[in-house]
Amino acid sequence: MTLADILAARRRISGLAVRTPLVPSPHMSRVAGTDFLLKLETTQPIGAFKLRGALNALANIAADAPGVTCCSTGNHGRGVAYAARARGLRAVVCMSALVPQAKVDGIRALGAEVRIVGRSQDKAHEESLRLVRDEGLVEIPPFDDPLVIAGQGTIGLELLEDRPDLEAILVPLSGGGLAAGIALAAKAIKPAIRVIGITMDRGAAMAQSVRAGAPVEVEEVASLADSLGGGIGRDNKLTLSICRDLLDDYVLVTEDEIYGAMQALYFEDGLVAEGASVVGLAAVMAGKVSTTRAPVATIITGRNVDMKIFTDIVSGRGVKLGDIELKGRAYAA
Ligand SMILES: *Cc1c(COP(=O)(O)O)cnc(C)c1O
Repeated sequence: MTLADILAARRRISGLAVRTPLVPSPHMSRVAGTDFLLKLETTQPIGAFKLRGALNALANIAADAPGVTCCSTGNHGRGVAYAARARGLRAVVCMSALVPQAKVDGIRALGAEVRIVGRSQDKAHEESLRLVRDEGLVEIPPFDDPLVIAGQGTIGLELLEDRPDLEAILVPLSGGGLAAGIALAAKAIKPAIRVIGITMDRGAAMAQSVRAGAPVEVEEVASLADSLGGGIGRDNKLTLSICRDLLDDYVLVTEDEIYGAMQALYFEDGLVAEGASVVGLAAVMAGKVSTTRAPVATIITGRNVDMKIFTDIVSGRGVKLGDIELKGRAYAA
């Protein structure tokens, strides 16, 4: 894959995906000691960046195809549902029972069919593959696909157009479609830029897989960053090698650090975002990322948070989530 794939993606998705704003966070700039910028993918019509990859992949599907299917921790399903509706195609989204209800409802509201299967992404994926075999639907993979990666990579183009002086990009990392796309674009334009993948420490599939040199299966556990859950796929074709070759570092954050970063983003920047979105902030707040005097950006990847959990967090209440029990604490700058 090259920069040309990402430039082509931009032409295909423009007008449907939003060219999102890159805004300074005065509070995080004080914490980081340098300009700290937020790329607000929360302003996409589905509330998350996944629309970019989905639109780029759907643009490639014949108008008379019987439809598309995918498995999803939530936002990919929303993106596929939205893009399929825009193309007038049937969409069936397969999800594990761990996906929050708010995300299931959001996908149904976009006119897609939802199938809840098992308690892991792998089980949901099996159902999606069955639909490909039995009903001729076309699978839209959540991250390990050249068109999806190129779509997410358009974020890298926009970042460096808006701030050519960026020194580092902190990217929430799960399957690696977002990080691979951004790294491909950003390093093609500016080879010296650092791209750092950030994940919760519970289930950091890509970081472990890169270290092992092969896909590592991680146990799926509850996390405030539910959109970062799931493995990278047993037969990963693209994102593992792209991340291995292009990412400069991997940083892991705790659930408690994510809790604090969600509070900070809300109280300091007035933004509602899901746990996966704030791992870049969490890493800097915890002193886990080295910064220079040059500007740093992170992607606020999505806002599709369970509002009960979100209001508990910003109210400083404790959160019980699966086997996790987080102590409440009021926000203090
Ligand atoms: C999918 C997703 C990610 C991670 O993207 P990958 O391409 O799987 O690494 C991060 N944040 C949000 C909100 C997501 O939906």
